[in-house]
Amino acid sequence: MVGSKEKSKEKRDKRLQEISLLRTIPYSDHQRWWTSETVAVVTGANRGIGFEMVRQLAGHGLTVILTSRDENVGVEAAKILQEGGFNVDFHRLDILDSSSIQEFCIWIKEKYGLIDVLINNAGVNYNVGSDNSVEFSHMVISTNYYGTKNIIKAMIPLMRHACQGARIVNVTSRLGRLKGRHSKLENEAVRAKLMDVDSLTEEIVDKTVSEFLKQVEEGTWESGGWPHSFTDYSVSKMAVNAYTRVLAKELSERPEGEKIYANCFCPGWVKTAMTGYAGNISAEDGADTGVWLALLPDQAITGKFFAERREINF
Ligand code: NDP
Repeated sequence: MVGSKEKSKEKRDKRLQEISLLRTIPYSDHQRWWTSETVAVVTGANRGIGFEMVRQLAGHGLTVILTSRDENVGVEAAKILQEGGFNVDFHRLDILDSSSIQEFCIWIKEKYGLIDVLINNAGVNYNVGSDNSVEFSHMVISTNYYGTKNIIKAMIPLMRHACQGARIVNVTSRLGRLKGRHSKLENEAVRAKLMDVDSLTEEIVDKTVSEFLKQVEEGTWESGGWPHSFTDYSVSKMAVNAYTRVLAKELSERPEGEKIYANCFCPGWVKTAMTGYAGNISAEDGADTGVWLALLPDQAITGKFFAERREINF
């Protein structure tokens, strides 16, 4: 008898095969809202999923800004793509450093004026395998949640007003899910607050992560009902998911012609440095849904969570 694990593996493998095929189908002229003047920015793009998203977006003909917190590494990564004929530019960007964010915005303004797509991919995780230390919780929450929020806020004024809307894509994780078979969150109060999208605010999300960090400092987090594996990372991605919904709600109030659509996605378990190359899919497959979301034809999809090109529950 085939177990449920095997069944879901079979289903996932089949879906990944379908997606590999979908990726080979070129966008038709009426779907292509972008040109070579369309500018996409990808954070943390010197390696892994970020690098791959740059490669795929540039392959579709956009101008892509590969950013990296390490100048030399980023220049080298961009060079690989430039030598392959891709329209890729580089600028340093550390999402933890407000002066780096400010410098980046000034450079964008001077060189490109405005951007069309922002992909928030930069992130950290300090636990591999069954380790679950919370030693680096502050760094994880600061980078994955506050860093992502700060770059989004800085870039929104630099996003182009266009009929097809500008796009923000946040790379998150199923580990940050609030309900469903794989949700590891046991704290009902937190779940209820973050699920209630109508009442959800940025302040509620900030308070949730502050409460988690306080419990870490006090040594009481283990009884707090937080996920028991990849705890700090899961909380950080839960926060980015919730913030994506708040952001989408705020941005939907913008007038027609000035819309910005914000969505998030889980790339799957990907063979990158973050997983110690222990994932089950390639960076190319992991990048796919992010690229697909960034390029969606004019459909006004916003505030949703995706995986393998399908909407999933938060
Ligand atoms: P990598 O570790 O290969 O890439 C992470 C990237 O983020 C690196 O380029 C890293 O730079 C960069 N980064 C970290 N901190 C900062 C910062 N302060 N400012 C700018 N850049 C920074 O991992 P992945 O490619 O796997 O991860 C990409 C995204 O996908 C992350 O958000 C991750 O959480 C998410 N994800 C990954 C999964 C997986 O299975 N791999 C699963 C679910 C989500 P540097 O090289 O300098 O460290």
